[in-house]
Amino acid sequence: MRQNKMILPTLREVPKEAEITSHRLMLRAGLIRQLASGIYTYLPLGYRVLKKVERIVREEMERAGAQELLFSALQPAELWHQTGRWDDYGPELVRLKDRHDRDFVLGPTHEEVITTLVKQEISSYKKLPVNLFQIQTKYRDERRPRFGVMRAREFVMKDAYSFHTSWDDLDVTYKTMYTAYSNIFSRLGLFFRPVEANSGAIGGEGENHEFMAMAAVGEDTIAVCSHCDYAANLEKAEAADVPAAGLEPTADAPAFAKLHTPGTKTIEQLVAALGLEASVFLKTLVYLADGEPVVAVVRGDHDVNEAKLKDLVAATTLELANDTTILRTLGAPVGFIGPVGLKGVKIIVDKSAAKVASGVTGANEADYHLQNVVVGRDFTPDTVADIRNVVEGDKCPNCGDGTLEFHRGIECGHIFKLGTKYSSKIGATYLDENQKSQDIIMGCYGIGISRCLAAIIEQNNDEGGIIWPVSVAPYHVHVIPVNVKDEEQTAIAENLYRRLQAQGVDVLIDDRDERPGVKFKDSDLIGIPLRVTVGKRAGEGIVEFKVRKTGETTEVSIEQAYEEIMGMVLGQ
Ligand code: ATP
Ligand code: MG
Repeated sequence: MRQNKMILPTLREVPKEAEITSHRLMLRAGLIRQLASGIYTYLPLGYRVLKKVERIVREEMERAGAQELLFSALQPAELWHQTGRWDDYGPELVRLKDRHDRDFVLGPTHEEVITTLVKQEISSYKKLPVNLFQIQTKYRDERRPRFGVMRAREFVMKDAYSFHTSWDDLDVTYKTMYTAYSNIFSRLGLFFRPVEANSGAIGGEGENHEFMAMAAVGEDTIAVCSHCDYAANLEKAEAADVPAAGLEPTADAPAFAKLHTPGTKTIEQLVAALGLEASVFLKTLVYLADGEPVVAVVRGDHDVNEAKLKDLVAATTLELANDTTILRTLGAPVGFIGPVGLKGVKIIVDKSAAKVASGVTGANEADYHLQNVVVGRDFTPDTVADIRNVVEGDKCPNCGDGTLEFHRGIECGHIFKLGTKYSSKIGATYLDENQKSQDIIMGCYGIGISRCLAAIIEQNNDEGGIIWPVSVAPYHVHVIPVNVKDEEQTAIAENLYRRLQAQGVDVLIDDRDERPGVKFKDSDLIGIPLRVTVGKRAGEGIVEFKVRKTGETTEVSIEQAYEEIMGMVLGQ
């Protein structure tokens, strides 16, 4: 490709709206432009990378035995009514009407559609298992689109769905997909980690893993064991048992008593006012689970894990109750809520909070708390369960030896064992060997293709710009004639350009009449892995060869440059 003719609008200025490196670089290197919040145009350079990522994903999916097909983004609402997700999916679902006033959605994911196809096309165990995938545009009206293509409202996803006659058979494909994903992310040049995860809006009964590209700007927190290979999303990480906080419970523990605590509503204020450890407070929060109030009690130094709580109460929606609702349902003011004496509401106590021997909690009365509160004596929890976020330093729930450390990650892929969640609702059944009808068992497997671009850049950049891994680089080689008015330089550069192209190497030639400094800055910014500068010594057959990643620059003969390039491009 010739740069002179290319739409490659690089920017010197750092765009103000971009908060993170990858977003800034995608704008500055002329890969994308924003059309509206969370909606992007891929310019030629960005689109080339997108297609290269797609190609790697496609190759590995096909190698793993999956078949590619393509669904429509537009889906009839009836399918979403059948699975209940028309109501459950919430405002992220883009809904629209056709001219006949019929409801449609723009697919955020395709479980409904594919399960319907399989229901229609597969009826016998003889046709199973099957694994189908597509690479397609998805729509999610995200609450907070941000970080460029990382969290967009329209984005490209690879989604695959597998269909089985047994959980064992699903397990085989799940493992194949796990391996395929590991191959994909390695080939994309990502430093990644598979982690245990929560299944979220996709749901399902079985295990699921997220593939996280490790990066400080990642929106997910990952708990990793210092000793074994346990790694889990904070949403999912199990809390190991902790030793009791405060005093050991005794038979003659004093009765609870009222404490006057005017204006102290937060744990920090209470810690300061009473001089106690945060761990002896029984922090009490009120949630609405599908509209019904539930009370969650965790230690003052812990936070409620809403994903765990939501799963525990089997709710579709879970949100913190507002002050008015709390006052109306519990008759108590926010900041002074406590589990003692609460009636007509479910009380769920975290395992470690239940071990607080002598706690302090709200008195359900303005400006008062209770001290010497004993769980089980002064109030009876409906449930004691793990409903908190793990914290750094917690014992590992897997090996018990190591402690948990936190890292940040970008979720690039997610694989799920769905079971019969969708097939049972859509009626996707098959006849087994005994002619008996059974629900098909499913798995599903997503990769955020466009999000991967941001993740790759986030992990591969320096102050000069992007450093593309060869596997996804928009071009392998950047040929730069320093002075396009110099006929000899131009002729040599053009000749190299044509020779490389003829061998299937992706080459960009900077044939612009620009100052060398501008050309080199742009070249670093767009991050093409190899650069050949054809300059002053071109007449002697000498060019400059530069590796973007290491910055290593050598003067070599044109033939050597050619050989180096062929080796590096073909070798990957
Ligand atoms: P997140 O927790 O980041 O919202 P998710 O759990 O909703 O992700 P899935 O439904 O599993 O995501 O979708 C599969 C993949 O699609 C994700 O692993 C991610 O890489 C990508 N993805 C999801 N939402 C977006 C988005 N808004 N923009 C870009 N990519 C996305
Ligand atoms: Mg999401």
